Amino acid sequence: MNERNGANRGRAVQIITTGGTIASRIDPATGGAVPAVNAAELVVLAPSLRDHTEEVRVTEFGMLQSWNIGPDVMMRIAGVAREALRDDAVAGVVVTHGTDTMEETAFALDLLLDGAKPVVVTGAMRNASDPGFDGPRNLAAAARVAVDAEARGRGALVVMNDEIHAARFVTKTHTTALGTFASPETGAVGLIDDRGVWFRWRPDPLPRLSPARAETNVHLVKMAAGADALLLEALLEARVGGVVIEASGAGNVSDVWHEPIEALIAAAIPVVLVSRCPTGRIVPVYGGPGGGRTLHALGVIDGGWLPGPKARIALSFVLGSGMDSEETRRFFAQLTR
Ligand code: ASP
Repeated sequence: MNERNGANRGRAVQIITTGGTIASRIDPATGGAVPAVNAAELVVLAPSLRDHTEEVRVTEFGMLQSWNIGPDVMMRIAGVAREALRDDAVAGVVVTHGTDTMEETAFALDLLLDGAKPVVVTGAMRNASDPGFDGPRNLAAAARVAVDAEARGRGALVVMNDEIHAARFVTKTHTTALGTFASPETGAVGLIDDRGVWFRWRPDPLPRLSPARAETNVHLVKMAAGADALLLEALLEARVGGVVIEASGAGNVSDVWHEPIEALIAAAIPVVLVSRCPTGRIVPVYGGPGGGRTLHALGVIDGGWLPGPKARIALSFVLGSGMDSEETRRFFAQLTR
């Protein structure tokens, strides 16, 4: 049976709930929004889920706020999704998730799953106590995409606010707006309107990873004008598993970072270089202390267009796969080509 040619499409959508605002209500005792809507309730709150799906299955993975979901938990979510997708009756999976780190989990699923059947991540910006709760609409739209044959082979997707985004390019751009998710590099992959699901382009397949574990001792350091070397020195001292540096512009850092970066690489700690700019990729242009060309000569790994948080997820899984430094460099080159 060839999964990609639609020989066996399945008819059920498998929803995996993890928490987030889509599962949250205001706790009257504290006034804070906290996950409280269980998986079965969420499905009841979204009757339009049934409009485009023949069968809805639900699994509650957790009631987590997404800032508490790390790469190790993402691997477990991927495991639940993989298991569900093995069932021929399942056309696709929807993962409900907090929006704060949704782009990281979606990217993790993109790296960890084979992408043959659709995997769609969604959530909400307004909680279930808010009259404008956007969870049910997002959930129904995500399910519609997950069972759409056209969604197959496009990698993990994020569906929010009637837009479909590629996990690799999507990012949360606004702290509170409903239309917060955007893909500044490429635009959305498609959308959902009254005529149905409309795909406009097809992301290339990503290289996949099958790590034995996630290396969680991987750190992200952001360059800020005039930053000193304290954080990098502490990471070196702690002999961490890996470091991602979000450099300025095309990939440049403070001159005082030169030595600790050199020492990290000499200690066989991989250092992945990406940019803090929301679009574009790093380019080794500048020589001189801290310049990107100088850093490349030191042996940093080129993280291309990856944003810092996604580069960190990739490095976590690469290290958990046991790749050596050449394999790591090759993987990042393939991932960001
Ligand atoms: N603000 C978040 C959300 O929209 C909460 C979280 O990320 O868990 O779901």
